[in-house]
Amino acid sequence: MTPTATAVELKPCPLYINGERVVSRGAKDVQYNPATGEAVAEIPRCTAEEISAAVEAAQKAFPAWSKTPVVQRCKVLFKFRELMEANSRELVALITEENGKTTEEAQGSFDRGIECIEFACGAPSLMMGDTVDRVGTSVDSWSTRYPVGVCVGITPFNFPCMVPLWMFPISIACGNTFILKPSDKVPRTAVRMVELAHEAGMPPGVLNLVHGAKETVDRLLTDPRVKAVSFVGSSVVAKYIYQTSANNGKRVQALGGAKNHSVVMPDAEMKSTVAAIMGSGFGCAGERCLATSVVVAVGEAGDVLVKELVNAADHLTVGAGCEPKSQMGPVITAESKKRILSYIELSEKEGAVLARDGRKDAAAGGKGYFVGPTILDKVNPESRVAKEEIFGPVLSVIRVKDLKEAIDVVSHSEYGNAASVFTRSGSSARQFTQNVTAGMVGINVGVPAPVAFFPFSGWKNSFFGDLHALGKDAVHFYTETKVVTCRWPE
Ligand code: NAD
Repeated sequence: MTPTATAVELKPCPLYINGERVVSRGAKDVQYNPATGEAVAEIPRCTAEEISAAVEAAQKAFPAWSKTPVVQRCKVLFKFRELMEANSRELVALITEENGKTTEEAQGSFDRGIECIEFACGAPSLMMGDTVDRVGTSVDSWSTRYPVGVCVGITPFNFPCMVPLWMFPISIACGNTFILKPSDKVPRTAVRMVELAHEAGMPPGVLNLVHGAKETVDRLLTDPRVKAVSFVGSSVVAKYIYQTSANNGKRVQALGGAKNHSVVMPDAEMKSTVAAIMGSGFGCAGERCLATSVVVAVGEAGDVLVKELVNAADHLTVGAGCEPKSQMGPVITAESKKRILSYIELSEKEGAVLARDGRKDAAAGGKGYFVGPTILDKVNPESRVAKEEIFGPVLSVIRVKDLKEAIDVVSHSEYGNAASVFTRSGSSARQFTQNVTAGMVGINVGVPAPVAFFPFSGWKNSFFGDLHALGKDAVHFYTETKVVTCRWPE
């Protein structure tokens, strides 16, 4: 008998509660491989009881874990890092299967994730407080950091490994317990990481994992036992998470969507600029929160830039991420592809010049959710394609006369994640850096993603909260400060 893709053959996706692998009793959704459109796994939506059990496990584990010496907590993370590296091939392949990224991109994101574990392993020095001797006669003062309690992390589809690693290693290193709710579109990479964390010696209940979407998230946001919420995803949901968490008395950091600009000055070195914009605009099929979505071409840079970008896009190999020659994979779902195509259609109505139409590429007509690299020229800065997050391989080019006008275009955006300038002039770079209203700035860099020691510092509608993910912000987010004022007469 020829096997068919029945639900029985689909890979299961367990949850993790109190160190135990659990099979959910909730309803199941089907996960599809974005490169083939084939059903691959069943993703559960956790029941209310399962979610409550995860919170309870995290709450019960907190007293002992928070009092475990920080160096001992970090030893588990050192071991976790080692096991992640030892299983990197499997994890990278899983990222590609779930998300569609090319193997090279999946490996790159995996490496950035490892960097986050390494950052968390520095918790003993990151958690150090301040001391001032003799703030008064016989009085000394010092501050120390305490973990906040049960923390929740809710993550998006575009980085199945890296974004969860922005959150749980540093939170756990600081002495908190954690519940991860990965994207319902790509949860299996997260499950594998949680398995490895337990293999590394994570005590039961310290790191738990549940599945689902809005209903699961709402249960976590309204549970009084949860003390802090970290979220990464679209702005509409980020704002909702921020408001709901705050209304329920929790600290919250909610990283939202983006519309990132790359400004190209006429003096830019064209070859490296085109390579950087190609990587930023079309890398990960444009599904990166730091992807360049709008190129702002200053003066005479425009004509040559568009010509070179179209030429480079013509030579980009679009195909399944697991194929070694592929340079760009599919987008995540059939719905995403439909949304992206509707923006390309809209751009024509809004008067843009379709310099390259990715709908015509062979891959876009086949199986899987492929959209070829698309370049829209002479885009009106007030049009919807110029302003709204498309989150796909579509670059809009806006032509402006000078740097000031370029900075105005960038600063007009409701988003403020990243902005880059390409120039050989230090003065232009400085003017740009100082005046642009975005939290992550690149100078001759296409994807200005900060290394883990710096905060991932989006502005405006790209971030809701106060303390960002990563860097010292993360340590402050996951800890409470206690200041001691002490008198011992001399
Ligand atoms: P999304 O907002 O649809 O989903 C993110 C998470 O929220 C998922 O776990 C999902 O299950 C959950 N969710 C979805 N709808 C919900 C709702 N109504 N209520 C509660 N929870 C809900 O985002 P996505 O499509 O998975 O990811 C892409 C988005 O993430 C893009 O907008 C991208 O810019 C953004 N992103 C931002 C950053 C950043 O650092 N600012 C990083 C990566 C991705």
